Amino acid sequence: MLVIRSSGWLCLVLTALMVSAAFSAQAGEKIVIAHRAASGYLMEHNLPSVALAVGMGSDYIEQDLVMTKDDQVIVLHDPTLARVTNVAEVFPGRNRADGKFYALDFTLAEIKRLRLREPYSNIGNGQGRFPDTGQNLQLSIPTFREELELIRGLEKTMRRDIGIYPEIKQPWLHRKEGKDISMAVLKILREYGYTTKIDKIFVQCFDPDELKRIHDELFPALGMDLKLTQLIDDNNGNETKTLEWGEWVNYNYDWILSKSGLRAASAYISGIGMDKSMLVDGAGNLLRPTLIDDAHQLGLVVHPYTFRREKESLPSYAPSFEALLEFFYFKVGVDGVFTDYCGDAVLFLESRPDAPAPRSAAGEILPSQPVVSPESPEPPRLPQTPPIRPASAPEPEPPAAPVAPAVIKPLPTTVPAAPSGAVVPDTRLPILITGPEPGDQPAPAAAPADRRSR
Ligand code: CA
Repeated sequence: MLVIRSSGWLCLVLTALMVSAAFSAQAGEKIVIAHRAASGYLMEHNLPSVALAVGMGSDYIEQDLVMTKDDQVIVLHDPTLARVTNVAEVFPGRNRADGKFYALDFTLAEIKRLRLREPYSNIGNGQGRFPDTGQNLQLSIPTFREELELIRGLEKTMRRDIGIYPEIKQPWLHRKEGKDISMAVLKILREYGYTTKIDKIFVQCFDPDELKRIHDELFPALGMDLKLTQLIDDNNGNETKTLEWGEWVNYNYDWILSKSGLRAASAYISGIGMDKSMLVDGAGNLLRPTLIDDAHQLGLVVHPYTFRREKESLPSYAPSFEALLEFFYFKVGVDGVFTDYCGDAVLFLESRPDAPAPRSAAGEILPSQPVVSPESPEPPRLPQTPPIRPASAPEPEPPAAPVAPAVIKPLPTTVPAAPSGAVVPDTRLPILITGPEPGDQPAPAAAPADRRSR
């Protein structure tokens, strides 16, 4: 009996050590999350795109998940099909009154008849995207099981762990249709062996109530305990809606952006993710100077989205994709990024010394210093990084010394400590910037053209 009890304690201690080691490793790592697989190089969310993202060395592959009419879980970003498939041609008239073709209205067999197309090849910032071939590639929407099957197989042949980052899309919409998407997703994950926090997986969702339900109810019921990432939308987004007084209204995320809110959420989440424009304004200034430190102190990782290399997607403070990555990874201090260009991001991290930039407790951004090994006096090759400066400043002369960093001071805010249905003031801009005032020069739009996605 004593032996059994001792081994039980030993198991507990070993498990705790393993979980602790897993967390500490993640806290120091910079990771690349392949946003919708290798979506910058091939069409989003299909098996060849997954294989490409894995082959390029991505740490995690993202899956956006929705359900079909016959309760299958498929990998599709939108709840509707028209943006990425030929559904309107194959199934004319199967749209709802709002004109949209919902995946929830089609069986898996019907969805398998659809062919994928590159939605960004001819519009917006689609230059350099995979040329639309008139769907000659015959790519189709994969099921979640098919994608996991592929990844598990590649883990074996490539002899490495491949992380997955599934997103449970719009539980509220599925619930309206009588479907429990979270339960369906978790059962598939358990089937494929994802059951503990040390497994290489983050489950992400925009719905805080649903994540809490997953943590408090579904995990215990299924014998699982995975890392959860709370996605944070701006309050004008449509990602999560709550029913108030009989009306579906946008979820108000303000509470979770306070330290007390983060602390409350840290009881059930392991990370947070948000659009990068919620962290940094169009001029390169931190909008929430303490958020990332607060998150790290609570053991949470920060994974913003979506990083793209097209010129139209680059903010004014980043002259290149690599400069943008340098800025967010090593100056803002995020732990990972969702990017369409996973291969470029992997190459960037491989070229970059693993040295987090020093950041003061007050949130002031300091210039990072190259790390030079004593054995190797040659400084490492670094991509060109923009100095942090107000957007209104003139372009620096090439030989000039780096411009002094912008100093950011937090203003008092009135962020509520806990969620409530009441509308609270927008706390999006709790900063003062020494030097030019924000009003001196019209700042670029906070939300660049790439706000199309999550
Ligand atoms: Ca997503």
